[in-house]
Parts: sequence; C-alpha cells; structure tokens
Amino acid sequence: MTARQIEDALAAGQFSLAYQPLLTAAQDALVGCEVLLRWRDPKQGDVPPNAIIPVAERTGLIFELGDWVLAQACLQLARWRTDPAWAEVTVWVNISALQLADVRFPARVAAALRAARIDGSGLCLEVTESALVDVSSPNSLAVMAELRAMGIRLVLDDFGTGYSSLSYLRHLPIDGLKLDRSFTAQITTDASVAPIVRAVTDMAHALGVSLVAEGVETEAQLDAVTRCDTDTVQGYLLGRPMPAHRLTQWHAEWQR
Ligand code: C2E
Ligand code: CA
Ligand code: CA
Ligand code: CA
Repeated sequence: MTARQIEDALAAGQFSLAYQPLLTAAQDALVGCEVLLRWRDPKQGDVPPNAIIPVAERTGLIFELGDWVLAQACLQLARWRTDPAWAEVTVWVNISALQLADVRFPARVAAALRAARIDGSGLCLEVTESALVDVSSPNSLAVMAELRAMGIRLVLDDFGTGYSSLSYLRHLPIDGLKLDRSFTAQITTDASVAPIVRAVTDMAHALGVSLVAEGVETEAQLDAVTRCDTDTVQGYLLGRPMPAHRLTQWHAEWQR
C-alpha cells in the first residue's frame, strides 16, 4: 500500500464503510455501530484497514481519509436518524491519534456534521493510544474538550494493551473504554483474564465511564464478559461488520 494508491482510491471512490453493531450486555438494545474502513482494490481484492491506516498516518493522508470517513459516517447517521427506531443509536468512528492532536480537528468534525445536518450527539469517536501521539498532550486534551462540548462522545480503543496508562486515565475527558479484543479472546481459556476484566470494569465504573468488550465470538465469551459486568458487547457472535443497508435490515429483524 502506497500513498499514491490511497489518493487514487479516494479519487476513484473505491473506499467504503462497514458497520458493526454494538449491543447492551443484556442484548436488549442496539447501542451503536462501529464504522470500519473497507477497500476493494480491483487488482488485489480486499485490503484490510491495518494495511491502509498506518500508511495514511505516515504520509499525512490520514487527515483527508479521516475526513472522508467522518463525512460518510455523518451522512449515514443522518439517514438512520429519520427512523425513530434509530433515535438512540450512535455511530462510532475510529480516528487516528494524529487527528485528535490537530487543533483544526473539531472544525473538521463540525463541517461533517453541518453537511449532514445533524448535531454531535449521535457521534462517538474511538481513539487508540499509540507510539506516535500522546493522547494526553495539551493539544489533544483541548481538542477532546471541544469535541465533548459539541455533544460528541469519546472512547479509548484497544484499552489494556500497548501504551494505555492508568495514571492519566482520570484526567482524560472520555466516556468509555473499549477493552482490547485479546482479553475477550482469552477469557474462557486463561483463568487470570476474567479477574482482570472484572477489575477494569469496576475501575471504569468508578471513573464514571462505560466498558465495551469487543471481539465476542462465542456464547461462552459472551457469558464470561457479561458476568464481569461489562456494559456493551460487540463481536462476530452478535453481528459482523456489514454495509449500512444490511445493518438497517438486521436491526429491523432483530427488533421483531
Ligand atoms: P479496531 O478499531 O480495534 O476494530 C476492530 C477490528 O476487529 C475490526 O477489524 C473488526 O472487523 C474486527 N472484529 C470485530 N469483531 C470481531 C470478532 O468477533 N473477532 C475478530 N477476530 N475480529 C473482530 P478491521 O475492520 O480489519 O479493522 C482493523 C483496525 O483498523 C481497527 O481496529 C482500527 O484500528 C483500524 N480502522 C478501521 N477503520 C478505520 C478508520 O476509518 N479510521 C481509522 N483511523 N482506523 C480504522
Ligand atoms: Ca475501534
Ligand atoms: Ca479495538
Ligand atoms: Ca485499533
């Protein structure tokens, strides 16, 4: 994957978005859906976002690509918002920590919301801590505060791996944590994992933020993460990433 390929794919309209449902742990409501970038290259076939995003980050194209994702996600949210059954459903967009460190980012998000004629209350942004950017830098903190003033929610993704640090967690203006998929993957096979998940959930609740368990693939995993008191669940067991129109159908059928 090269910068040129990303530019060409953007220009040719080859990117698309998939949406994956997030449910309450009791599975009685659709909380939201996560937006995931998809690219089908005419020659190579499907190229995973993990092969695209790092290149976009290295080359600065993440801002243009990120704006495109946000614009599309806001337009889709506006479509869903015309249906009362979708009134409480939020759209969760992954953003790079680089975007969060850009002081112009709130204005870019505001432009996407304005173009879709919606406010920020239906939008949740997921950010992953990385080696590239410190999400607790003064710039990022100021951007986060501005975004929250727009009614937008913020969630820390892949929590519990890599660079996440407990020390600054209480200073971050966030609404939720997404526990890294590896915890869900091991919760039924490694006896040390459930107590950790339980402790993280308790900590999240003590801080007044919610906890999402992602990557739920089996009933046993669903049972285990639910017993740890997680608030929200997501994973192939509950629903795979799918095109927006399929999620609309899925939600209608699921509600019956
Ligand atoms: P992520 O944000 O941690 O997203 C979750 C990934 O796990 C997605 O992979 C999703 O398809 C996959 N997944 C969901 N449920 C399950 C499950 O039950 N089991 C397993 N094994 N996997 C599951 P995907 O779509 O390949 O995305 C990979 C990563 O690329 C994302 O990880 C995110 O960091 C990044 N990404 C995707 N779209 C965007 C975007 O629009 N902007 C940015 N900045 N990053 C994005
Ligand atoms: Ca994510
Ligand atoms: Ca994640
Ligand atoms: Ca990630």
